[in-house]
Amino acid sequence: MKAAVLYNSKFVIKDIPKPLLSDYENGAIIKVIGCGLCGSDIVKIRTGKAGDGSVLGHEVIGEIVEIKSNTAFEVGDKVVLGHHVPCFNCVYCWGENYSMCRHFKKTNIVPGGFAEYIFVSEEHLQNTVFKVNLCLSDAEASFLEPLGCCVRAVKRAGIDNHTNNLIIGLGSIGILMGQTVTAFGNKAYGCDLLYERVSLSEDYGLEKSFQIKDEEETLKEMKTYVPYGFDNVFLTAGASKSLDFAVKAVRDGGKIIVFSSIKDNLAGFKNNDIYYRELTVMGSYSPAPMDLEDSMELLESGKVCVEGISQVYPIEKLNDAINDTLSNKIMKAFIKI
Ligand SMILES: [Zn+2]
Ligand SMILES: [Zn+2]
Repeated sequence: MKAAVLYNSKFVIKDIPKPLLSDYENGAIIKVIGCGLCGSDIVKIRTGKAGDGSVLGHEVIGEIVEIKSNTAFEVGDKVVLGHHVPCFNCVYCWGENYSMCRHFKKTNIVPGGFAEYIFVSEEHLQNTVFKVNLCLSDAEASFLEPLGCCVRAVKRAGIDNHTNNLIIGLGSIGILMGQTVTAFGNKAYGCDLLYERVSLSEDYGLEKSFQIKDEEETLKEMKTYVPYGFDNVFLTAGASKSLDFAVKAVRDGGKIIVFSSIKDNLAGFKNNDIYYRELTVMGSYSPAPMDLEDSMELLESGKVCVEGISQVYPIEKLNDAINDTLSNKIMKAFIKI
């Protein structure tokens, strides 16, 4: 089968063996229709975490073509999925840190979403695979997993109704985060360096977004909307400079939710800011099955709108999709297989 295989940090289209259902006791073979390109795929390539021979991609939409399962899924079902499944019975799962569960980290789809076919296990089918509602386009439905990440962050932050939230970074994840915050009954504000993203985010339902030209000026302008500062600040930008900005923008006693990696990993939060201002700094990583369920509901009900966020690329142009994402030419790529 056709797959995009990583060699020297570039994808090469190759013919690789198709996963066979007969190699497994239970599970399904899915013919991949398309797969979203995730920021984490790009990070894995850049950091060398994904080596030569890897097949990446996890934001899959596809059709079940073979199945041996105790679930109600059938051949012909169009599905979207999450790629990790927690065990629900370990110290991490008991503490609801599902994405830290060792089993969660081990489970995955085979070989990866940038391929013609994937294998998903029975436990995936039972927990993290969802039938697609026909009102969603393929690219829209493939947002199940990234939106699930945002749902998890909002739930982990324990955000009740009527809080003021700032999303730093208005790429596709920032826009999803803003809409998730709003869907949970709160106000979402945004900021970014790029004007196009600032104005686009307001079209996607953010209360108000600010273009950062001069940080102090922007903070002053923000104060005219939210005088005490933001109850919660979500860091989706992946820039070390945004850490300081988050500390300045959050109100005393507020929360900063770290939602992206940064390149050099040298920047940090200052001890005395956290102590004297009673700040909470927390991370949120990957979605649990219940977050995916909520994500599906938000997509199907239209409470989160992802129409027009993705640009479609054929798998042969996967390297171009990565370059266009990195140069901010596009918000998000959906790779057609
Ligand atoms: Zn992802
Ligand atoms: Zn577990």
